[in-house]
Amino acid sequence: MRRAWPHAWRLPAALSLAVLGLAALGLAGCGRDAQENATQHRFMAMGTLVDVTVYGVPADEAGTAAREVERLFHDLHRAWQPQGDGALGRLNTMLAADPATDPAAVDADLGMLIAAANGLAQDTGGLFDPGLGALVQLWGFASAESLPAAPPPPEAVAAWLEERPLQVDLGGFAKGVAVDRAIALLRARGIEHAIVNAGGDLRAIGRKGDRPWRIGIRAPRDPAGVLAALETAGDEAVFTSGDYERWFEHDGRRYHHILDPRTGYPTAGLVSVTVLHADAGRADAAATALMVAGPEAWPAVAAALGIEAVMVVRADGGIELTPAMQPRIWFTDAAYGGQARVRPLP
Ligand code: ADP
Ligand code: MG
Repeated sequence: MRRAWPHAWRLPAALSLAVLGLAALGLAGCGRDAQENATQHRFMAMGTLVDVTVYGVPADEAGTAAREVERLFHDLHRAWQPQGDGALGRLNTMLAADPATDPAAVDADLGMLIAAANGLAQDTGGLFDPGLGALVQLWGFASAESLPAAPPPPEAVAAWLEERPLQVDLGGFAKGVAVDRAIALLRARGIEHAIVNAGGDLRAIGRKGDRPWRIGIRAPRDPAGVLAALETAGDEAVFTSGDYERWFEHDGRRYHHILDPRTGYPTAGLVSVTVLHADAGRADAAATALMVAGPEAWPAVAAALGIEAVMVVRADGGIELTPAMQPRIWFTDAAYGGQARVRPLP
């Protein structure tokens, strides 16, 4: 699970964010402010740990709002689970019987969400594919509780590629939309400074008192390590997709949960993609789509999605940042910074 430390970073004042590859940032300076005025509420939802941090309102107001966010996450999880008795589960059952079923007729809210997901699919030339639910099932990544022991038989993958039976899976998008709705809820309660962090994917609004929110981005192959940090500017979402989120090993090979709809197999070439964007839903889908796009095509797909700030970690260890991301990121280790280069968007 990725994490972020919304308020654990203490940066030397002289540290310039505009410089890439600074070595000085370590965890040694961690600590909470003496005048800590943030309220934190933590719960499990959508298969991940969610942290709601609120700043600048009395603790009881913050707590009430954060518990409403928790309820929202649980409701959305139930509604948007691909199987079961929620709206999407029911839609998928109906789609299995009649592929022409209209999602909006099953549930208006779900219909809007699927329309938005279809728009993202179009923008990415189908690399983001919310209709690959049957493929996710086939691989065994559909259940949040268990991981598969082996890949599916190649014939089964080939059959999916041929038939492409429509089953909706919003796993690459729903968390982002939930985070957006949580932020809207907090704002409606008069909260202007907050972070909603779902397993390291987050959206921040406002500031933490007199300074910006500070975020850590996990190092892909080091569960305890931090690759980089950034400070959010006002209202921004930071979402990462990686091949280390959900994966299993079989016969010495690694298989992960982001699938390439062109091949039916897990994506290759990129280890992680981090996207910084105003809208969490779009950032979530974009991170997934760029993983599929891979090391050559990701800048073109980012441009098609209107995403400007991206950092990718390549399978060969190289790190690439877009010109918009470069001044926002500082690496926790000079070694990471040394591997980084700027890659412009087309
Ligand atoms: P996480 O949810 O772990 O942060 P992602 O946002 O990348 O990771 O979402 C991965 C999930 O998205 C998968 O578990 C699956 O449900 C779904 N998915 C996998 N491949 C694709 C794809 N090509 N397009 C859209 N959704 C996908
Ligand atoms: Mg995603």
